Amino acid sequence: MTDEITARILLVDDREQNLFALEKILERPGLEIMKAGSGNEALALVLEFDFALILLDVQMPDMDGFETAELMRGDEKTKHIPIIFVTAINKEQGFVFKGYESGAVDYLSKPLDPHTIESKVSVFLDLYTQRKLLLDTTKKLKRTIDELKASQKTIKEQNALLKETSLRDELTGLYNRRYMNEILEKEFSRAIRYKTDLSCLLLDIDFFKNINDTYGHTFGDVVLRGISDCLRNNIRMTDVSFRYGGEEFMILLFNTGIEGAGIVAEKIRSTCESTIHQDDTNSKTITISIGVASVKQHQPADGKELIVFADRALYRAKEEGRNRISIYGEEKSGEIKNEKPTSTHPS
Ligand code: GH3
Ligand code: MG
Ligand code: MG
Repeated sequence: MTDEITARILLVDDREQNLFALEKILERPGLEIMKAGSGNEALALVLEFDFALILLDVQMPDMDGFETAELMRGDEKTKHIPIIFVTAINKEQGFVFKGYESGAVDYLSKPLDPHTIESKVSVFLDLYTQRKLLLDTTKKLKRTIDELKASQKTIKEQNALLKETSLRDELTGLYNRRYMNEILEKEFSRAIRYKTDLSCLLLDIDFFKNINDTYGHTFGDVVLRGISDCLRNNIRMTDVSFRYGGEEFMILLFNTGIEGAGIVAEKIRSTCESTIHQDDTNSKTITISIGVASVKQHQPADGKELIVFADRALYRAKEEGRNRISIYGEEKSGEIKNEKPTSTHPS
């Protein structure tokens, strides 16, 4: 047994010697006994302290036990405290009932038998302890559930972040090739199903190896980031740009035909051409070549073939002198090359 206070009871009686006698009977480790000499004093104490039980004398001057009990029942904070009425008079049934109507849970007659009091009080104290334990457990459980919910939310957010990070290229912040693979065929199918267009731009930095060789890899990275910004800034929010390989990029333009794609490509090319890339020691402009292909214009069999067409166009842009855009199937002169696509799709 420890002396830690586990419960508190209130004894109410206008006679000091009765309070004292009751206290002697009930004293035990872990139990705090408070005493009140009147109904008013008792009402003040119940508002301030948490009681497991009240032993309430019925006959008191000014405010009797029943009045005191009724006032306690009327207050939200005190209405659940069990009350045992203690009285020396009137053991008639009617009187007992009055006690119960006031909300009593038990009734004791004087002279008090110490064993009866002790055992009755013990029952209430046990009930109180069990209720407290239950409340504690419920509180703990609620806290655990709240913590669990919070960590679930964090895990969800971290997973989303992780997923987003795993789909991004570290150097440029653009989407990576993995993400491109994830969405390309889906977007291709969507374009076919809804009869919308989809264009693909493949971009490659011109003579990038020279940049690395002459200015070093660190400056090469500065250029890669600068070019990425050019792409990001020249497409719509709904379009997606990827770092396709080392110094190769790709853009998917949704709901955009070959003509629109050509305009975007030219805008990107000319912005890149006039962008100055610099770090503490170097300052340089650089150009890019772009190959363009579209679903409706070139009717590839799938997303992969759309890239193949854009890549062929890019190859030609390089061959024709770099720093230019090339549309798949079109000669330098702008004529459609006799290079028929192998598949057919409804346009
Ligand atoms: P072209 O005009 O024909 O495209 O010539 P190029 O020199 O750009 O092409 P090439 O494919 O010969 O060289 C690409 C270079 O890109 C080689 C490689 O070192 C560089 N590279 C690839 N990834 C990175 C990178 O993350 N950082 C840096 N600094 N360089 C990279
Ligand atoms: Mg390359
Ligand atoms: Mg290159």
